[in-house]
Amino acid sequence: MADSTDTHIEEMPELSDGDEDDDDEQWMEEERQTVTCLFCHKLLDSVSATLQHCTAEHQLSLVNVIKKHRLDDYGYIKMINFIRSTKCAPSSLMELSEGPLPWNKEDFLRPVLQDDPLLQTDLEELCEKDDMSPSPRTQPSDELLCRAQAAEARAKRSEEALTRAMEDLHKLKLLAQGLVLNAETSKSSNLGAVAELREDEDEAYFSSYGHYGIHEEMLKDTVRTESYRDFMYSNPEVFRDKVVLDVGCGTGILSMFAARAGAKKVIAVDQSEIIYQAMDIVRSNQLENVITLIKGRIEDIKLPVEKVDIIVSEWMGYFLLFESMLDSVLYARDLYLADGGSVYPDLCNISLAAVGDAEKHQSRIGFWDDVYGFNMACMKSAVVPEAVVEVVNAETLISEPAVIQMLDCNTVCLSELEFTADFSLKMTKTTEWTAIVGYFDIFFDKGCSNKVIFSTGPQVPKTHWKQTVFLLEKPMAVKAGEELQGRINVRKNKKDPRSLFVTFDLPDKKQTYSLQ
Ligand code: SAH
Repeated sequence: MADSTDTHIEEMPELSDGDEDDDDEQWMEEERQTVTCLFCHKLLDSVSATLQHCTAEHQLSLVNVIKKHRLDDYGYIKMINFIRSTKCAPSSLMELSEGPLPWNKEDFLRPVLQDDPLLQTDLEELCEKDDMSPSPRTQPSDELLCRAQAAEARAKRSEEALTRAMEDLHKLKLLAQGLVLNAETSKSSNLGAVAELREDEDEAYFSSYGHYGIHEEMLKDTVRTESYRDFMYSNPEVFRDKVVLDVGCGTGILSMFAARAGAKKVIAVDQSEIIYQAMDIVRSNQLENVITLIKGRIEDIKLPVEKVDIIVSEWMGYFLLFESMLDSVLYARDLYLADGGSVYPDLCNISLAAVGDAEKHQSRIGFWDDVYGFNMACMKSAVVPEAVVEVVNAETLISEPAVIQMLDCNTVCLSELEFTADFSLKMTKTTEWTAIVGYFDIFFDKGCSNKVIFSTGPQVPKTHWKQTVFLLEKPMAVKAGEELQGRINVRKNKKDPRSLFVTFDLPDKKQTYSLQ
C-alpha cells in the first residue's frame, strides 16, 4: 500500500523553533516592499520605515491617528486613500478632533495607488510594530541591527538558562546516583577503624573539607601539587589507557592530571561538598567524558567498575598519619585494585631529628613560670603533651635525621599503621636539646621511569604540612657525636580514630603527645 501521507508532508510548512522567529521572518518579508510616502515623493523600503519617516519628517504619527480615532481596517484604508487623494497636510490630520472623519465615505475604499503596501499591511501588527520600533532617527539598517541584536540576546539568555538547567540536572543525577549506590552498599561489610566510624561522627571531618579555603591551601602548596603533577605528566606510560580511582578527589585536581596523562577513565570520589565544585570544574575543562565523580565515602559507595588499575590519593596528614585517611585508601586498594595495579604515592617514610631551640622552648614552656608575676608552671604539663604543627628553622636541627618508619602503600596493612620503633639520634652539636621534630617524605616510585620525591622536612621548602614538634618538658644537655637511643609508639586515639597518640621513651623521660 502506498503511503498517502507523503504529499501532505511536502505541503507542510517548515517547523520553526518559536513564534518570535516567525514574526521576524514576516517582518523581514515586509521589509522588501517599496512604499511611497503619504506626504512627499520619498520612496521607502518598508511600511515601518514609512511610518518612521512620517513621524520624523512630517511630525505625524499615523499610529497615533489610528489609535486616537480608534480606526478599524476599513477606517484605516479610507484614511490612507483620503491622504493620498487629497494630498492633505499632515498638520490637518493632527488637528482633527473627535467626531465625523473627513474620509468617512465609501469612495475612499478605492486604492489611489496600485498595490499600495500601506493598504496591504495588517493594522494590528502595524500598531504593535510601531510600539516596538526604534526611535525615528534610527536608520533602517540600524533597525535591522537592533532587531538582530535583540534576537541574539534572547537566544543567549535561552542558552544560558538551558546550560543552568543541564548543570542542575547533572548534579541531581549524581546525587540520585550517590543515594542509590549508598542504599545498595549500606549493608556491605566495612574494613578498618575509619570504615566503622559512624557517618555523623565523621561529619565534622568532611565538612572541614567542604570549605574552599583548605583546598586553596593545598593547591597553592606547590611542592605537594607539582609533585603529583610531575609524577603523572612525566610517566604517561603508567597512565595510558588505565582506569584510575582518585580517593578523596577534592577539587578534582589529581583526577584531571590523570586524565591529561592519558587515563582512559578516572573515577573521582569525595564525601565532602567540595565535589559539587569538582563537578563544575571537570565540566569547565571538558573532561566529563573521562572523569566520573561520585559523592560519598569510599567505604560506602559502590564503584561503577569492578576493578581499577591505579589508585591515586593525597591522603597524608600531619606527621603523615594524622587524619587516618590512609585507612580509606587501603580499603579501596583491597576492594578495587586489579592484580598488578598500583597505588600512588607508593612509598612514604617518617623521620625524626633533635632540635635545640632554647628561645622557642622558653617562649612555650619557660613562659609559664612567670606570667605577669604569677606562677603558672602547672600549665606546662598541659602544654607539653600537645604536639605543635609549625615550621622548624633548619638551623636549629642538632642531630642527623632518623627514619623511624617506611610504608609501601601497595602492601602495608591497616595494623601496621600503629607501630613501635626504636631509633637513634646522632647529635651533631654540643648544646641543649629542647624538642624532637617529626616529618615525612613521599615517593612516586613503582614502575616509574621518572621517579618523583618530595619531603616535608625542615631543610627543604616548606609545605602546608609544616613539621610536627614534640617539646621536651626539660631541655637536656647533649654532646656532638653522642647517639641518643629512644623508642616511639604511634597509635590511634580510640575515642577519635582520626587523631593520634605518639609516645616517646627517652633516656630519662617517657612522654605521650597527642596530635589533634
Ligand atoms: N585530592 C585533592 C584533595 C585532597 S584532601 C587534592 O589533592 O587537592 C582529601 C580529600 O579526601 C578531602 O576532600 C576529603 O573530603 C576526602 N576524603 C577523605 N576521606 C574520604 C573517604 N573516606 N571517602 C571519600 N572522600 C574522602
